[in-house]
Amino acid sequence: MSIKDNLNNIKSKLPQHVALVAVSKTKPVSDLMEAYTAGQRIFGENKIQEMAEKFQEMPKDIKWHMIGHVQRNKVKYMAEFVNLIHGVDSFKLLNEINKQAKKHDRVIDCLFQIKIAEEDSKFGMSKDDAVALLKSETFKELENVNVVGLMGMATFTEDMALVEKEFNYLKSTFNELQTCHAKLKIISMGMSGDYQLAIDCGSNMVRVGSSIFGSRNYIN
Ligand SMILES: *Cc1c(COP(=O)(O)O)cnc(C)c1O
Repeated sequence: MSIKDNLNNIKSKLPQHVALVAVSKTKPVSDLMEAYTAGQRIFGENKIQEMAEKFQEMPKDIKWHMIGHVQRNKVKYMAEFVNLIHGVDSFKLLNEINKQAKKHDRVIDCLFQIKIAEEDSKFGMSKDDAVALLKSETFKELENVNVVGLMGMATFTEDMALVEKEFNYLKSTFNELQTCHAKLKIISMGMSGDYQLAIDCGSNMVRVGSSIFGSRNYIN
């Protein structure tokens, strides 16, 4: 099936309230353009440099989402154009995003990445870290970032009961954090293999790559 067919197939399964991030990491601009022509406007990348290069080449009405782990010294390369940063996992990083956003006179939307998987390889902060950050005075001074939701990555496993448990944990964390930060609206969870389960567990933003663009030729 073509990229367009894949995209339409997935979109037909998504409820209205669920946003689709087309994860285009490692894929050539020609593939992204095929998705763009089919109507897709939100693209997710996990390397800042690759995203910046694609931003230069592609139409300017695209919303670029940074879904990968962010190194603080690279925030400056996306501050001008990034639409949503999913992987914010520390005050230091949030502070740097705030600083770079200010230089461009922007307010950048961010998600807190919460560690929901048991695997040590996954990044993210604990629920307690997130609560402490949201309640801190230093957080309230950051005028150029907007924390609008949470993101989580489940354990890479065939065990869907475990994945479901982790998704439910993110949803309950979201409900809890909303009581101290009413701006939270987005729950980014679910990828090609588990986005339907994620939606059942309360996701309203799914990040789908291989089911749209085909498998990637590398391990990441
Ligand atoms: C690569 C990636 C995805 C998409 O994964 P697929 O299994 O190809 O859909 C989603 N989220 C993050 C954070 C990723 O790095």
